[in-house]
Amino acid sequence: MPVITDPAPLAELLRHDPEMAEVILAEAARQADSLQLIAAENFTSPAVLEALGSPLANKYAEGYPGARHHGGCELVDMAERIAVERAKSLFGAEHVNVQAHSGSSAVLAAYAVLLRPGDTVLAMGLQSGGHLTHGSPANFSGRWFDFVPYGVDPESGLIDYDRVHAIARAHRPKAIVCGSISYPRHIDYAAFRAIADDVGAHLIADAAHPIGLVAGGAAPNPVPYADIVCATTHKVLRGPRGGMLLCDAELADRVDRAVFPFTQGGAQMHTIAAKAVAFGEASTPAFSGYAHQVVANARVLAGALGAEGFAVTTGGTDTHLVTVDPSPLDVPGAVARGRLASAGMVLDTCALPYGDGRGLRLGTAAVTTQGMGEAEMARIAVLFAGVVRDDLDLRVAREEVRDLAGSFPPYPASYPARDGVGVPAGHPEAGA
Ligand SMILES: *Cc1c(COP(=O)(O)O)cnc(C)c1O
Repeated sequence: MPVITDPAPLAELLRHDPEMAEVILAEAARQADSLQLIAAENFTSPAVLEALGSPLANKYAEGYPGARHHGGCELVDMAERIAVERAKSLFGAEHVNVQAHSGSSAVLAAYAVLLRPGDTVLAMGLQSGGHLTHGSPANFSGRWFDFVPYGVDPESGLIDYDRVHAIARAHRPKAIVCGSISYPRHIDYAAFRAIADDVGAHLIADAAHPIGLVAGGAAPNPVPYADIVCATTHKVLRGPRGGMLLCDAELADRVDRAVFPFTQGGAQMHTIAAKAVAFGEASTPAFSGYAHQVVANARVLAGALGAEGFAVTTGGTDTHLVTVDPSPLDVPGAVARGRLASAGMVLDTCALPYGDGRGLRLGTAAVTTQGMGEAEMARIAVLFAGVVRDDLDLRVAREEVRDLAGSFPPYPASYPARDGVGVPAGHPEAGA
């Protein structure tokens, strides 16, 4: 019962709403002809995209399988049960909630289970790589809870577990959050569990970034250690944009109620079906090979950028993440990011373990999905350094990036590429 019957993708949208179809196709082309080095991004499989674009998007399904507030949920109940069962076996969790709309929604729900407004929470400071949900004043977390930050050692860039322990003893938090948007090393979940137990705190692992590596056996699993694990499904895990929570049977009902009805409404059943497809893919030997290749690629990239003169934070990586300080090259992070973007290398700036300069954060999840390996990482590092140093002409670099990306199309040729689709008017690249 194929839903997408037209072999030419977006054919209906092109007829129906060419203005939007062109934006979507141009974005697909942008993703395919530049290098996606944003550490939080990846390319889902065409199967995941089909589930996302399916009529499950039409279904209202408040509640949980077998206990919905709407009729006609028998089939979407099957979709959600499949997603939950696959995630449970993938991560060895007694319970998984797959309804969280995003990583941030998952963290909000975890706090709703374990905390009351005003409680003290210990989390990595935003200056050191904590996420907005770890106490930013611009986020609900900073508004409703009393966050105490821990950092990383300014010299090594590593978490100093003794220091975290000392801060925990001094502040007696109700919960400790471990997880980061830019920490390139494995997190010692057993050490965090021991600290939490010593001070009587709950432990929340925000594994939004590494959960895909966990699925592939390339990073330690927080599930045995944390009371609640929060995660995204769209980063290294390569599923649709969304979140999930993992916990033991004891917290299951409270976690479910914290998601719906406490913080969310109806579940997005098309996304849940797509999550199930991604969990199925992530349980294959091929995905394990992928996860290990992601790390191997990141290590080569870190080594090569170090050889080019960048200061590599923590001296390397255990994960898909590489963070570097460009200041030894006399270029500020924001300037470096701008030059790299002009050359088609898309990435973020990030906090550094020391000072208030900005570093550059790269990830290898997307380029590895495209099939790139160590040789391509070495080539990327050379282009990267030439562009940041400004001794490689931007147009030449852009052509080389186009050439490299073009050799590893993220989707089958039929997916985005269509003749006659240009850059929409108003886009910065229009007419360039
Ligand atoms: C990405 C991320 C999130 C949030 O995910 P969204 O889906 O963007 O809300 C939360 N915590 C950490 C550590 C992350 O890396």
